[in-house]
Amino acid sequence: MNTIYLDNNATTKIAPEAFDEMIPYLTDLYGNPSSMHTFGGSLHNKIEEARERVAALIGAELDEIIFTSCGTESDNTALMSAVESYPQKRHIITTRVEHPAVFNFAKHLARKGFRVTFIPVDSFGRLDMDAFSKALDDDVVVVSVMYANNESGVIFPIEEIGEILKERKIIFHTDAVQAVGKLPIDVKKLPVDMLSLSGHKIHAPKGIGALYLRRGTRFYPYIIGGHQENGRRAGTENIASIIGLGKACELAAKNIKKEVAYVSALRDKLEKRLMELCPDVRVNGDRENRLPNTTNMSFEYVEGEAILLRSNEYGICASSGSACTSGSLEPSRVLRAMGVPFTAIHGSIRFSLSRYNTEEEIDTVIEIMPKIIKQLRELSPFGKEKIKK
Ligand code: PLP
Repeated sequence: MNTIYLDNNATTKIAPEAFDEMIPYLTDLYGNPSSMHTFGGSLHNKIEEARERVAALIGAELDEIIFTSCGTESDNTALMSAVESYPQKRHIITTRVEHPAVFNFAKHLARKGFRVTFIPVDSFGRLDMDAFSKALDDDVVVVSVMYANNESGVIFPIEEIGEILKERKIIFHTDAVQAVGKLPIDVKKLPVDMLSLSGHKIHAPKGIGALYLRRGTRFYPYIIGGHQENGRRAGTENIASIIGLGKACELAAKNIKKEVAYVSALRDKLEKRLMELCPDVRVNGDRENRLPNTTNMSFEYVEGEAILLRSNEYGICASSGSACTSGSLEPSRVLRAMGVPFTAIHGSIRFSLSRYNTEEEIDTVIEIMPKIIKQLRELSPFGKEKIKK
C-alpha cells in the first residue's frame, strides 16, 4: 500500500537533493568547525554557504541568520531575548492561536510575573485588530504574532502589525515556521525584528531551525556556552542538518512560484470535490487568506480520530483537531478560539499538501474519503439520526 502523505504541516519529507548534500557530513567529514585543523575548521565554509542560502530565501543579510535546533527554540529565543533586553518592560502581546512554542512560553512568562495579552480571532480565524490596537501600551516589551496558522492555514496581517509596532518602537517577532518556503517572504520589506523558521516543515531534516534577527535589534542569547553563531547560540553546530536546511531553502527559493500554483490547485480540487461529495462539511478558516497547501475541513457527526483511523487503512495520512489525536485532553485550542462548534471540531481534519503530492493521490483521497465519512455516519447513532432526516 502506498502512503498518501497529506500531513505536511506536521512534518515534511526530506528533499532528496538536501539529503544527498548532507551525507558526507554524517560520515567522513565529521570534524568540528571550531577546530584549528583544516579537517574540522574548513567545515566552517559549508555553514556559511548554508547561511547564505537561508538568508537568500527570506531576503536577509548573512549576519541576520542564527541557526538553532528547531522552530521551538527559535520562538523561545525570540521571546526570551526581548524580555532580557528590556527588563523594565513587563507586557507581552501574542495571540490565542499561536503554536505551543510561543503560546506555552508566553504562559511560562506569565507565571514569572509578566502580563500577557492573548489577542482573540474571529470565526474565520482572522486576528482581532481592534483588540490588538487596544492592547498596546508603553509597557509592551515584545509582540509575537504567527505569520500563518499551522491548523487553519490562515495568514495574519504581519506587514500591517509591523508598521504599527515600528512607529511605537516595539520589538516584533513572527513565528513563520508554516509560512517560510510556502509564501514569498522578504524581510527587507517586512517590518519584523525577529522571524522563526524550522527545517522539517520545508523538506529539510528535523532538529534544525533558524532565527532571523534584524541588524540593530537588541539580542540576548538563550543557549549560553561556547562562541558558536557569533556568541548568539552556543553548542557545536549540527553541520549536516544546517547543510540540509541550506539546500532546502535554495530549492524553495527556486521553485516557490511554481509550487504555490501546483499545491494550491491540488488543495482546491480536494476541498471542492469533498464539499460536493460529502453533505454537512465545512471549511474552517478564511479561505481567501491562507496557506496554499492547507485546508481544515469539518465533517459533522463523525469523530476525527475515527476518520483518521479509517484513512490510515488506505495509507492516507492527515491530522485532526479532535481531542485524542491532538495529544491533549482538550480539542483544538485554535478551532475553539475561532468559535467552531464542538461537533465540527470533533470531526475536523487538516489536509496539508506538499510539492511531492500528485494529482493521482488527490483523486484517490477524493474517491475514498466520502465512502469513509458515509460509513462512519451510518455507524454513529448521531449520524444515523441525521441521515434519516
Ligand atoms: N511554530 C509553528 C507554527 C509550528 O507549526 C511548529 C511545528 O509544528 C513550530 C513552531 C515548532 O517547530 P519545531 O517542530 O521545529 O520545533
